[in-house]
Formats: sequence, structure tokens, C-alpha cells
Amino acid sequence: MSVDAIIIGDGPTGLSCALLLAKNDLDVTVYGEDDTPMHQAYLWNYLGLHEEDGTTFQETSRKQVLDMGARLEERRVETIEETPNGYRVTTHDDHHEQAPHLVIATGTDRSLAKDLDLALEGNTIQADRYGRTSKENVYAGGWATREDKIQAAISVGDGAAIALEILSKEEGEPTHDFDVPPEE
Ligand SMILES: Cc1cc2nc3c(=O)[nH]c(=O)nc-3n(C[C@H](O)[C@H](O)[C@H](O)COP(=O)(O)OP(=O)(O)OC[C@H]3O[C@@H](n4cnc5c(N)ncnc54)[C@H](O)[C@@H]3O)c2cc1C
Repeated sequence: MSVDAIIIGDGPTGLSCALLLAKNDLDVTVYGEDDTPMHQAYLWNYLGLHEEDGTTFQETSRKQVLDMGARLEERRVETIEETPNGYRVTTHDDHHEQAPHLVIATGTDRSLAKDLDLALEGNTIQADRYGRTSKENVYAGGWATREDKIQAAISVGDGAAIALEILSKEEGEPTHDFDVPPEE
């Protein structure tokens, strides 16, 4: 099976990226088993939320992403291969999928970087402010790209920046995702 973008990791980085891509009609699959450290967090520091436990934040985010049309696959990605058409992932239960764009949002587990020989910065994946890695059409963000100084808000921002980069590539020009209130 082939989709427009595969996102590995279902924490705030991966879900934020999926939301923007699906909103703009890209066919997106997010892989992950809902095992993010957000389930240990209690948010007093997320702009727009007075306070919320991390599990509620994840539940709302997962539903929002599903409602927008992305797919959540509760599977662990074991390997990534480069193909003539992009990148092919294989999961622990031997499910395969391929896409031209690949996003690595795996938090503190950066082991998949070795499959693509991605450049590292210490233990983290090297990525620029749009999440671009050393390999064309492979992006990384959030905790996967930062040793420390990480917050949910930073991951959500990184995921959004990656989505805008992918959308810009698809459009062939720099793009935003701005809306205005519906008319009464
Ligand atoms: C105890 C604790 C309390 C915290 N409290 C706060 C807080 O109050 N406020 C705040 O802003 N932040 C808090 N954080 C930090 C917050 O949890 C992180 O900033 C955030 O989770 C990072 O998001 P991420 O998407 O980059 O990575 P993660 O949330 O780590 O998401 C990565 C996801 O990818 C999955 N994954 C990894 N490898 C694979 C694979 N091969 N295939 C499929 N899926 C894979 C993981 O299981 C995980 O679900 C806390 C963290 C901890 C540990």
C-alpha cells in the first residue's frame, strides 16, 4: 500500500504533523502504540490549556487527527528501506507501507535513523528548523531531534513545521495553513 506521508511516532510531534497534512488532503498514516511519555505528564505549561493531564491531551489529539482523516496504525515500525518511490516501512507484525515523505517522530528512540544512515548530532537526529534531515524527503522533529530542553509545545511546533515543509514541496511553493472565521 502507498500513501502520501508516513509518520513514525504518535506523540505530540507525529500527531501535530498528521493533523496539518490530513487537513490539507494528504493521505497520511501515523504508526505508534500510544506509548508516549505524555501519559506521565500533567500540563500546567501548554498555552491555551489551563491544566490538563497528558493522557487527556493525547486522547483529544488522537481523535482530532482521526476526525481530520489520517490513519492511526497501532503497530511498531521495525525497519525502513529506501525505494525508487520513496520509503517503505515494515512493522513488527510484517505489515508494509510506502510513501514519498517519511517523518521520524519517535521521541527518545532514534534507532530507526541507522536504517537510512541519517546524520546525527550526538544521540539525536540532525534536522533543520523545517525538520529536514540529511536525506531528501525524510523529516524528524520533537524529542527525536533534541537531547534535552523539550516540551510538548515544542514537539507540536516541530510537527507543524514539518507538515508545512511537506505541503510546500507538494505545492511547489512556500505555503501556510491559515483560516479565518466562517461567515455568519
Ligand atoms: C515524567 C514526564 C513528565 C513530563 N511533563 C511534561 C509537562 O508537564 N509539560 C510538557 O510540555 N512536557 C512534559 N514532558 C515532556 C513530553 O512528554 C515530551 O515533550 C513529549 O512527549 C515529546 O513528544 P514527541 O512527540 O517528540 O515524542 P514522544 O512523546 O516520545 O512520542 C514518540 C512516540 O513514538 C513512538 N515510537 C517510538 N519508536 C517507534 C517505532 N519504531 N514505531 C512506532 N512508534 C514508535 C513512542 O512509543 C511514542 O509514542 C514530560 C515528560 C516526562 C517523561
